[in-house]
Amino acid sequence: METLLRQGLTALGLPADAAPALARYGALLIETNKVMNLTAITEPADVAALHFLDSAALLTLEDFRNKSVADVGTGAGFPGLPLKVLEPTLQLTLLDALQKRITFLETVCRELGLTGVECVHGRAEAFAADRRETFDIVTSRAVANLQILAELCLPLVKVGGRFLAMKAVDSDAELEAARRAIGTLGGRVAAVRDYAIPGTQVRHRLISVEKVKKTPEKYPRTFAKIKKNPL
Ligand code: SAH
Repeated sequence: METLLRQGLTALGLPADAAPALARYGALLIETNKVMNLTAITEPADVAALHFLDSAALLTLEDFRNKSVADVGTGAGFPGLPLKVLEPTLQLTLLDALQKRITFLETVCRELGLTGVECVHGRAEAFAADRRETFDIVTSRAVANLQILAELCLPLVKVGGRFLAMKAVDSDAELEAARRAIGTLGGRVAAVRDYAIPGTQVRHRLISVEKVKKTPEKYPRTFAKIKKNPL
């Protein structure tokens, strides 16, 4: 896995000296996945490309230096934790609703000797009560459709900050369906960019939403309401 990571990071123009730490993280992921469900991706080459390099690609599209970043529904740490390994100046909050995933992430942070990472067990819509409009960047991959995800993520973003949603390249209709919600929550779609994962035929999309004004106090609602009545 380390060689694939080294090649992929180099292709992305990112520091390949992070490859050993990411490979260690990958080994912990594959090992722990045998006893707890963390990911459906288990082949080392796939873990390297579809988890690590997919996450790393965000660094080629946005500036994360010295930013406070929350990764909502991070699961086994994607995209947030690879971003932190590759850009140590960012302050990271990993948020997930499942305690066992948070326990795994704490282990990875300890093993990699990472500082400046907070692992939080909780739901995004409840977390907003404590940490509303406090993050420069909120990332999320594979958590919910954009219309719902916007209400989970945008309340956490500072005015002037960004919500970055990792999506499939065929997400045009999903974006159109979410535009009203994004506007209501104080966001504006700033960029939609497709990128390639090096060493694969896979292309993914990053939707960047700028926070242009405060989110009205009544959002986020409870998850039941968000789902029943999407904005
Ligand atoms: N982002 C990771 C994991 C995706 S799986 C990746 O791309 O690999 C979705 C994760 O989101 C699960 O771990 C689930 O527990 C978490 N999740 C779903 N809804 C959530 C919410 N409202 N708040 C916090 N975490 C949530």
